[in-house]
Amino acid sequence: MKTEFSPAQLANPDIAEADKILRACVHCGFCTATCPTYVLLGDELDSPRGRIYLIKEMLEKDRPPTQEVVKHIDRCLSCLACMTTCPSGVHYMHLVDQARVRIEKEYVRPLTERLLRVALAWVLPRPGLFRLSMMLARLAQPLAALLPAPKAAAASPGLLRRIKAMLALAPGKLPAPGPAGGSIFPALGPSRGRVALLQGCAQQVLAPRINQAAINVLTRHGIEVVLVKDEQCCGALTHHLGRDDDALARARANITVWLKEADGDGLDAILVTTSGCGTVIKDYGFMLREDSNFAAAAARISALAKDITEYLGSIELQPAQQQSDLVIAYHSACSLQHGQKITHAPKELLSKNGFVVKDVPESHLCCGSAGTYNILQPDIANRLRDRKVANIAKVKPDMIAAGNIGCMVQIAGGTSVPVVHTVELLDWATGGPRPGLN
Ligand code: SF4
Ligand code: SF4
Repeated sequence: MKTEFSPAQLANPDIAEADKILRACVHCGFCTATCPTYVLLGDELDSPRGRIYLIKEMLEKDRPPTQEVVKHIDRCLSCLACMTTCPSGVHYMHLVDQARVRIEKEYVRPLTERLLRVALAWVLPRPGLFRLSMMLARLAQPLAALLPAPKAAAASPGLLRRIKAMLALAPGKLPAPGPAGGSIFPALGPSRGRVALLQGCAQQVLAPRINQAAINVLTRHGIEVVLVKDEQCCGALTHHLGRDDDALARARANITVWLKEADGDGLDAILVTTSGCGTVIKDYGFMLREDSNFAAAAARISALAKDITEYLGSIELQPAQQQSDLVIAYHSACSLQHGQKITHAPKELLSKNGFVVKDVPESHLCCGSAGTYNILQPDIANRLRDRKVANIAKVKPDMIAAGNIGCMVQIAGGTSVPVVHTVELLDWATGGPRPGLN
């Protein structure tokens, strides 16, 4: 794609990066076929190619974002299916991330939407506040019936519709909190390694059992696990809201405490059980490339970051203790399959450990979770969830496995089949408790 940035514009490293990405696009349109919003809405401007044009216009003409641009960028899930499909290697993620930052800085949203976004950016990364908000949401759930019923996908859902979506996501009861930062879990038997495990923010409130399962599997296989003290939310949630000052501050804070641990007692890897977080931590090196104080450290941390299945696939797991003929529908989270290109390791680990693993039809399509998307765009998110659940039902699973808490909550909202994390099944297979019973 021909671009027309001026030399002055190209002196800005972000614009230079956007120029490189835009020039790689040959507007072939292959990406439209796998874009969930194009598949649902059929509007070229809700396809990757359409959004690329909108972003190009906005950046090239150095115009403030228009309502039209914001509508179509907001509808993008950042699922990155387009990046997997694109034959020309267009890095759509870095382009849309840049567009979201510009929208956040230059576009004035309606007051209620601004307030909602501020609240999400403030509450979700703080586990204490998030826990409190989930308790309040539970109390308010009976009021949800009084709010308007969903209509067909609206251009911009109203505040009440979004509140209703938030209430629907609140769990019936919250589990007790997991172990605190600073905890160390020694290896059982001879030590084979030492890793940090990301504590996460929403996941540690909604499902601390996931990291407990990871700790069980790792320590059982001779890996010491540390929950690094003073670690915070990885920044993924605010990054996807375009609030990069917040996301980068969190990235710098995490890099500082993780490097201290790596240079102290040593770390072989920083393991992540929420693939949405893993994708962003693996991108810290890019996000901080212009920060002379953090660029090298960020690149080092990104290289240490691994999804839990990526790491478990690299060590020899003990033979399965449980023989199970359970049929597992494996839901491949977008952030894992498109963001991190991890497609085989989770399924291979499950198969090797005695499970019958089934691929879900249309597995490239997002389930609609996408960070805060199911709150901000609930109508599209619900349609994607229903489509995902219908596809999952076709393989008649006993359980559904996924590697991302957002997908787990989203899918569980549409099915009675237990939804568990891949590592919970691996823990069970190698001697831990059976998951999906609570
Ligand atoms: S598939 Fe790639 S090159 Fe083709 S239109 Fe989409 S982004 Fe551009
Ligand atoms: S990230 Fe997903 S929703 Fe956004 S343009 Fe690409 S395929 Fe479509």
